[in-house]
Amino acid sequence: MSKNIIVAIDGYSSCGKSTLAKALAKKLHFIYVDSGAMYRAVALYFLRNNINSTDHAQIEEALKNIHLNFHSRDYETHITLNDEEVSEEIRLMPVSEKVSEVSALREVRREMVKQQQRMGKSKNIVMDGRDIGTAVFPDAPVKLFMTADPKIRAERRYKEIHVKNPEITLEEIFENLAHRDYADTTRTESPLVRADDAIILDNTNLTPEQQLQFALDKVEPLLKA
Ligand code: C5P
Repeated sequence: MSKNIIVAIDGYSSCGKSTLAKALAKKLHFIYVDSGAMYRAVALYFLRNNINSTDHAQIEEALKNIHLNFHSRDYETHITLNDEEVSEEIRLMPVSEKVSEVSALREVRREMVKQQQRMGKSKNIVMDGRDIGTAVFPDAPVKLFMTADPKIRAERRYKEIHVKNPEITLEEIFENLAHRDYADTTRTESPLVRADDAIILDNTNLTPEQQLQFALDKVEPLLKA
């Protein structure tokens, strides 16, 4: 594949970015990168090792000791943190509660963005996150900015994680999403903001098939060009 087409998908927490990104990558045979999983894995390392988020030397040292790797199987995200599979643990509440603090750190962002940009070199990829169209790939030819009604987002998330984590309540999820949206949009370093050239996709009333078609209509013309 020689085209190097990058599809950047940004948006609020739990509005279906990864569902769309995976479906799109699968359909087009692109590589899918879940950038949030990287920040989550870093947050897990910070939690386990008691890294102080205000101590810059400690943060730099921690980043040197963090090695992340994606292993793609069926377009599901499998990520290892120093060779340990952490794909499930990074979705649990302690990490969800920590991640926005860690992802706001300049040193962390600098390192993750560098790694993400490397992944986009000479490959066709779909990457989802919060700053993909603004900071990671500002020249991406297709940028989508996803949003959905906050109540619907919390309900979708609840259905998804309640199975593995039955003690979680809908309120806790709603609060966590609201907290992360607030932290992600108001931080100093690369806040979540729609890139001027990003197309808004509100999927409150869309089925997964409809949102996939919406995105395909934007990407397919580039493949034929
Ligand atoms: O996408 P996901 O909800 O798993 O992301 C978890 C958190 O990681 C977000 O709430 C945000 O704080 C951070 N993140 C980020 N930049 C990205 C992707 C995720 O700051 N590109």
